[in-house]
Amino acid sequence: MAKTLLLKNASELVTCRGHAPKCGPAMQDIGIIEDGALWLEDGIIRKVGATDEVLSGIAATPDTVIDATGRCVLPGFVDPHTHFLFAGHRAEEFSWRLRGDTYMDIMERGGGIINSVRATRQASADELLAIGLRRLDSMLSFGVTTVEGKSGYGLDAATELKQLAVMAELDRQHPVEVVRTFMGAHAVPAEYKGRTDEFVDYLLQDVLPLVAEQRLAEFCDVFCEKGVFSVEQSRRLLTAAQSLGLQAKVHADEIVTLGGAELAAELGALSAEHLLHASDAGIRRMAETGVIAVLLPATAFCLREPYARARFMIDSGVPVALATDFNPGSCFSESIPLVIALAALYMQMTPAEIVTALTINAAAAVGRANRIGSLERGKQGDFVLLDHPSHLYLPYHAGVNCVATVVKRGEIVYERQRR
Ligand SMILES: [Zn+2]
Repeated sequence: MAKTLLLKNASELVTCRGHAPKCGPAMQDIGIIEDGALWLEDGIIRKVGATDEVLSGIAATPDTVIDATGRCVLPGFVDPHTHFLFAGHRAEEFSWRLRGDTYMDIMERGGGIINSVRATRQASADELLAIGLRRLDSMLSFGVTTVEGKSGYGLDAATELKQLAVMAELDRQHPVEVVRTFMGAHAVPAEYKGRTDEFVDYLLQDVLPLVAEQRLAEFCDVFCEKGVFSVEQSRRLLTAAQSLGLQAKVHADEIVTLGGAELAAELGALSAEHLLHASDAGIRRMAETGVIAVLLPATAFCLREPYARARFMIDSGVPVALATDFNPGSCFSESIPLVIALAALYMQMTPAEIVTALTINAAAAVGRANRIGSLERGKQGDFVLLDHPSHLYLPYHAGVNCVATVVKRGEIVYERQRR
C-alpha cells in the first residue's frame, strides 16, 4: 500500500508549473490555485488542483492530512549556489571590511578563501559532517529542500575529495537534498602562488579525473575573475570537465567585467553566477544560448557592491534564479528572507519573479527541474507552508522567515512552533 498525504484548503497553492527554466514574462506566471490541494503517494505528487476537485477524486483515507487553511503553499526552495561546507570562520576579516578594506585586498594579503582552506584541510571528515548537518538544519528552517554545495576549500586532491564525499554523506543523512559541484579552481593555493597555470594543470591531471571517476560531482565551477583564473584558464578547466561528463557553471563578472558571461554562453554552461558587472553583450549571449543567471544579492549586500541587473536580464530573456551564496567570506548568510527582501527592493524583481527564481528556475540551475521546483503531477512532494495566506508576504514581511512547515518527499521534516 502506498503511503499517502493530503494537503487541502491552501489559500494559495503556488504551483510554479510550466516549462523550465522560465524566462521573460513566463517568470511572472506562478500558476496559483486558490483553495488548492495536493495528493501524494509515496512522496510523489499524484493530484494537484482545487480542494473539492482533488477530494472528489480520492477513495482512500490518507495516512497524513495537512490542513493549510489561511496558508500559502509553495514548492520547497532550492538554493542553487552555496559554499556551505567549510571549517573555521572569518569574522575578523569581516570587521576589516567594515573598516574599508576590500575583499580583494584581504585576498592579496593571504586572507580570504585561503584562510578557510587552511581550516578545512585540518578538519576531519567527521568534523565537517557535524558542521554540515547543523548548517542544513538552518537552511531547512528557511524552507530550503535542495541545496547546491561547492568544494573549493581544499585546493588539493585529498581535501577536495573529502569535501565532496562529506556532502554525499550529508545528502544521505539529512532531508535536505545536496547537489555537488567541484570547484577546485576557487583560488590559487599558497603552494602555487604566482604559478596559476601550473595549478590549473594540477587540477586537470590530478584532481578532476578522480572527481569524475568517483562520481563525486555533477557540476564543475570556476572563479573566473581578474587576479584569480583568467577566461582562458577557466575555458581549459571547464572544457575538460565537460568532456568528463560534468556540466559547467561559472563565477562570472563578479568584481570586474572580464567576459565570464560570454564564456558561459560560448561553452553552453548550465549557469553563470554573480554577474554584477556582466556586459550587455554577455547578457544577450546568455539569453540566446539559454544560460541561467544565478544572482546572489546577499553577497552584493555584504560587499556593499551594486546589485546584478536582474530587471535588464529578465527583460532580455535570460532565465534568472536566486541563491544565498552562503560562504565564510563574502556572504556568511543562509538567509532566504534576506535574499527575497533585496531582490524585491533593490533588483526590481516582482514577488512572482522571485518565487520563480527560488523554485523552478533554481531547480533548473541544478539540473533537477524534471523532478523538483514545481508542484505538478509526477514531481517529488517537496513543499513549504507559510504563516501567511499569500506569496506576496514573502517580501512584505521583510527579513522575517515566513516558513512554518516543510515537507520533503512527502514527509513533514520541519515544523516551527506557532508564533
Ligand atoms: Zn560562489
